[in-house]
Amino acid sequence: MPIDATKSYDDSNIFARILRGEIPSKTVYEDEHALAFHDINPQAPIHVLVIPKGAYVSWDDFSERASAEEIAGFVRAVGKVAREAGLVEPGYRLLANTGRNSGQEVPHLHVHIFGGRPLGPMLA
Ligand code: AMP
Repeated sequence: MPIDATKSYDDSNIFARILRGEIPSKTVYEDEHALAFHDINPQAPIHVLVIPKGAYVSWDDFSERASAEEIAGFVRAVGKVAREAGLVEPGYRLLANTGRNSGQEVPHLHVHIFGGRPLGPMLA
């Protein structure tokens, strides 16, 4: 069921639980602002999720409420994860689903990083 991105943050969501260490994830990177881990159901040979440490429902919520420091830290983390995975030369795709029409399932902002093969058309 896609989430309603206009709702307030619910800290029982699965990524909040990963951030609190209540459930495991396959971490690939962590710093003050961001955590990156492998998607549990990968859609490409490399499929990593990057989430901010702050409590933000979606890209909309984050871009409106996060501090300049949080935004810079998160954006740099996404770039660093892709770079360290060796994805710059072959290329990669970023995706941040937001709300109902996008199919966003988890109500904590996450950027998908896809790579490892030609990714085909932008939308299926
Ligand atoms: P979205 O549809 O953009 O909200 O994407 C949610 C993503 O979270 C999907 O690609 C799921 O496979 C992934 N996911 C859900 N639960 C977990 C989990 N426990 N660990 C890693 N990835 C997860």
